[in-house]
Amino acid sequence: MEFRRLGKTELTLSRIGFGAASLGDVYFVIDPAEGLRAVHMAIDEGINFFDVAPYYGKTLAEERLGKALAGKRENVVLATKCGRYDVTDFDFSASTVRAGLEASLTRLGTEYVDLLQVHDVEFGDYAQIVHETLPELARLKAEGKIRYIGITGYPLGMLARILKEGPVDSVLTYCRYNLMITDMDDLLTPVAQQNGVGLINASALNMGILTARGASDWHPAPEGLRAVGQHAVKYAEQRGVRLSNQALRFCFDHPYVSSTLVGMSTRKHVRENLEALADTSDLEFQKELRRIFGEYFNYVWPSGRPENCDAQCTVETFLEKQ
Ligand code: NAD
Repeated sequence: MEFRRLGKTELTLSRIGFGAASLGDVYFVIDPAEGLRAVHMAIDEGINFFDVAPYYGKTLAEERLGKALAGKRENVVLATKCGRYDVTDFDFSASTVRAGLEASLTRLGTEYVDLLQVHDVEFGDYAQIVHETLPELARLKAEGKIRYIGITGYPLGMLARILKEGPVDSVLTYCRYNLMITDMDDLLTPVAQQNGVGLINASALNMGILTARGASDWHPAPEGLRAVGQHAVKYAEQRGVRLSNQALRFCFDHPYVSSTLVGMSTRKHVRENLEALADTSDLEFQKELRRIFGEYFNYVWPSGRPENCDAQCTVETFLEKQ
């Protein structure tokens, strides 16, 4: 397994990270015993980075991950989140993120997490996140309950703006860098890199769009994007290519991302996704996929409060002149 340091932190993350949202039955109802075995297999095979949140399955994912990590906590880099608790339940106040962390620690069976991330910042008030939430996380860090501070979200401009202002060690975005989209590199990557902030890339399979099962009902992508995703799945089948391998390989090759998170809940997927580490990019195949995606390549859907969207954000807004 290859490991990369997360920005300026002392954390080194496995190139492939275990996205634990799946453990909360977010994609389909899983067999919890198999989910536990998948976690154990991942650890045995060298995956050390686990990402979860109280929101995933309304605490179910944290509960299941906590059980699976019993006796193994010190072998992993554990990240969870705060501020988002349900589809429309957001609270970024200092008291709630503190209480939320305490509840997460209990479920996860640990006294600290390596990374606490403000979850989906675009659903919050920018000023509150910068002046109330992040300072509270800084206090939790000083108290030793968390080792590092992160932010997560979808609109790249807001993430870039916050990481420049707050005490932020890492930033996680999702569905902004995979076979269907690469715009993370137009804005967030250079800003994170210039500021020495670690970068985590989530949803290599575009939250299920690039799988035979397809996207779940809750997926925010429009019908056309889902359809070209399924077209890609069929094309890969015809060519005898394992699409998940190509999707993961593409993400693993990113020069700055520390870890690519993939949602897993079965040993089969853990095994397959580890095999992707040894695969190589099929550039002809990827070129054909771009043709299939057509106008849906680099498609961005709305997320969060309108004032937090990316309108008029360019990379020049955020980069310091060298
Ligand atoms: P993903 O793109 O990783 O897709 C997950 C889906 O792909 C699941 O249905 C899973 O069963 C399936 N899958 C995994 N490996 C497969 C394989 N080899 N073959 C076929 N299907 C396979 O999406 P995700 O799970 O949403 O993202 C990964 C993780 O990133 C999450 O679990 C979470 O930890 C994190 N994340 C965070 C945020 C945020 O903070 N806002 C948002 C999205 C994701």
